[in-house]
Amino acid sequence: MTTLVTGIAELTTCDPTHPDAEDEWGTLHDAALVLGDGEQVLWVGHSGTRPPDADRFLDLGGRAVVPAFVDSHTHLVFAGDRSAEFAARMSGTPYDGGGIATTVAATRGASDDALRALLHARVAEMRSQGTGVIEVKSGYGLDLPTETRLLRLAREVTDEVTFLGAHVVPPEYRSRRTDYLDLVTGPMMAAAAAYARWVDVFCEPHSPHAFGADEARTILEAGRAAGLGLRVHGNQLGPGPGVALAVELGAASVDHCTHLTAADVDALAGSGTVATLLPGVEFATRSRYPDARALLDAGVTIALATDCNPGTCYTSSMPFVIALAVRELHLTPGEALWAATRGAARSLHRDDIGQIAVGARGGLTVLDAPSQLHLSYRAGVPLSHRLTVGL
Ligand SMILES: [Zn+2]
Repeated sequence: MTTLVTGIAELTTCDPTHPDAEDEWGTLHDAALVLGDGEQVLWVGHSGTRPPDADRFLDLGGRAVVPAFVDSHTHLVFAGDRSAEFAARMSGTPYDGGGIATTVAATRGASDDALRALLHARVAEMRSQGTGVIEVKSGYGLDLPTETRLLRLAREVTDEVTFLGAHVVPPEYRSRRTDYLDLVTGPMMAAAAAYARWVDVFCEPHSPHAFGADEARTILEAGRAAGLGLRVHGNQLGPGPGVALAVELGAASVDHCTHLTAADVDALAGSGTVATLLPGVEFATRSRYPDARALLDAGVTIALATDCNPGTCYTSSMPFVIALAVRELHLTPGEALWAATRGAARSLHRDDIGQIAVGARGGLTVLDAPSQLHLSYRAGVPLSHRLTVGL
């Protein structure tokens, strides 16, 4: 079953190799698409050169189309509510990463069905705003049975599942951290390998609850030995070893990158590690933003993601993150859209998503607007939604 999509005023393919691409973002005006089963892209080009026939026809009436957003960093499986913590922080209480314990207690106490309902509602919220592939981390169980449950539930909604048993040291292990490291790198990692594609660690010496460089290395090396790809939460609360460690170990992504030295930027520039920026966190914690321009100027590949989580950024909105990146990180709208699609896909080592090219199957997002510029120009307006055909 094929669908010919016309009436696309502006198509941002994020594929600059398209022969009709007008700029580095792979933009085409007055474009058309042919989609096959599973939203696979079969043809992309100007409407005047479109194939004459298809099984179905869809006229978008002059709207803009972009690749479905790739949200490459989320913590979607949790129970409980921390809105009061947010309110306290907004009135001046500093954040040190300890509020996670609140979520851990609620999540351990929640049934599979309750967690599944919460997870599916959050995924639906993301989809309704134009997000396609979503990465989902564990990390609110912090014991063997609950971490395993969270990974199993995450796997029900995505292939991009990340084991984050090393989110923080749970309270019952605070006086015996090495016992917790043994649990994470031993039984938890063995159980995680059945569901997860990635392992992640919150490497942050500025939080007493997170992990230092040596601990993070131990966890990442155990993950690699278990066949998992590597991701790192690094350099969020202050300068630290996360970026250097991620680059040294060949991690796919190091996320946050809020406090970077010149040496960190140089290391990323010479590496295949993507710098994933999460400006919703700085917004929701009223913190300084990362220096995205320094990263781009050095040639680093950046991604944008929500970090959707109950503590430091409970937004599910990639359009909001794009608008923040333009306003606060000084990205151009094109750079921000690229980072939220193709850049995020690279952080997941995926070429089949985050772009609109023949063979891609990451989905399409339609904007009720004539141009992708409106994503940041009209911040907060619900313009974007997933294109669905044949439903
Ligand atoms: Zn995170």
